[in-house]
Amino acid sequence: MSAEENRITPRMVTMKFGGTSMGNHDTIAQVARIIVEHAAQGHRILTVVSAMNGVTDLLKQAARTASTGDDNEHIRIVNDLRVRHVETAEHLVVDDKIKKVLVEDIDTLLDSLNAMCHSIAVLREITPRGMDLIMSFGERFSARLLAAHLRDLGHAALAIDASEIIVTDDNFQDAAPFMDETQQRVNEFLLPYLHNGTFPIVTGYIGATRDGIITTLGRGASDYSAAILGACINTDDLWIYTDVDGIMTTDPRIVPTARVIPVLSYGEVGELAYFGAKVLHPKTVQPVIDKGAPVRVRNTFNPTHLGTLIQQQSEITQGAVKAVTIIRDVSLVSVEGRGMVGVPGIAGRTFMAVARVGVSVLLISQSSSEQSFCFIVPQSKTSTVLDGIKKEMRHELERGDVDRVWAREDVVIITTVGAGMRGTPGVAARVCGALSNRGINILVIAQGSSEYSISLVVRAEEANEAVRALHDLIAL
Ligand code: ASP
Ligand code: MG
Repeated sequence: MSAEENRITPRMVTMKFGGTSMGNHDTIAQVARIIVEHAAQGHRILTVVSAMNGVTDLLKQAARTASTGDDNEHIRIVNDLRVRHVETAEHLVVDDKIKKVLVEDIDTLLDSLNAMCHSIAVLREITPRGMDLIMSFGERFSARLLAAHLRDLGHAALAIDASEIIVTDDNFQDAAPFMDETQQRVNEFLLPYLHNGTFPIVTGYIGATRDGIITTLGRGASDYSAAILGACINTDDLWIYTDVDGIMTTDPRIVPTARVIPVLSYGEVGELAYFGAKVLHPKTVQPVIDKGAPVRVRNTFNPTHLGTLIQQQSEITQGAVKAVTIIRDVSLVSVEGRGMVGVPGIAGRTFMAVARVGVSVLLISQSSSEQSFCFIVPQSKTSTVLDGIKKEMRHELERGDVDRVWAREDVVIITTVGAGMRGTPGVAARVCGALSNRGINILVIAQGSSEYSISLVVRAEEANEAVRALHDLIAL
């Protein structure tokens, strides 16, 4: 425990532990130590957990294969899951009674999982709703393991399925919470445990509709679950525990001198998460913004490190750039034509066509001559997007008002993030200068409207060099 932590003595702390932290019995024991140690400082701890790492993917695979009519693969997967979870339970729990209840509980869940996969195999069909139900199991196992371990250590602890608490819409696979109803459930089913000294261990990732149908909030959304629940209990702090020391200035595999960023604002982290930094789910800060609760990204395996603090105010650092991110596997779609000049609606119709094929656009730029505009989509969607636009623009293409709709696939987006970019003259010039000094050609440049970021599109083969050049702009 550092001096800084001792000074602030928050009463309510929400801790979220990711898949690696929940990965095996050693790491789960470490999670329990962190919880118990902070509780001993007088804090009330709400814990939210991910599934053991890899489990959610296996569940998806079980459902997928079953939907092709394969009635065996899911049996094999469920068997592997049984071995892994029961073995972990054996290590984590000494008391025979606690262990028996835990293993029976896990067995019952696994049996129902198998039965559901069997139905999918018979129907040869999987709906998003069915997928959510199957994919919700991982967190239900892991929450039970941790709660049983804490009980085995002599603490009051209870595994709670968030489907009882987080009320969502029915947008399966990417459900959104109804905060008022969730707040009511939190008051009723969660706060009493926090007040009577029980450790509630809540499943991340999942919720349920008003009718009680299980939903998931999107891949990697356990962070978001923790923020939703943290906001509802008025948490003083939200700590997202992961397996790195915090949010890094860039990917250390590209720049070995990359380091942990000590402080970021909500705005900056939003931009970072959107533009490819994998540490935090992009929606995480949303629920706590109004409450102003600070978020910390911390390392389960280096628990005295304070990690990255994310707060309301932004600290302007010298040099303005705080982080450099990269998104690979994208393509740059261009719509070109001299006949487009001054014609309203071409861009609008193009983006409607892209939306209609279900693809979201990552970045947009238009040349002021109006003779072309371009935008970035995921590479896997290139041909879908081109077909959609060509269909929408077939008359313009025939008439020659639009000359060309095409894409190049050998590109990446590199984004520099930092609040100081707002109103600091010359940042864009320095960013572009850093690249031109190294002879890197910028294909597209776009500035986020928040002015927290500048994004550049460059050729994929120059990507790492570009990241290194921009990382040099970060003040030490
Ligand atoms: N287990 C879920 C996933 O793998 C949620 C999470 O880990 O945040 O996407
Ligand atoms: Mg995650």
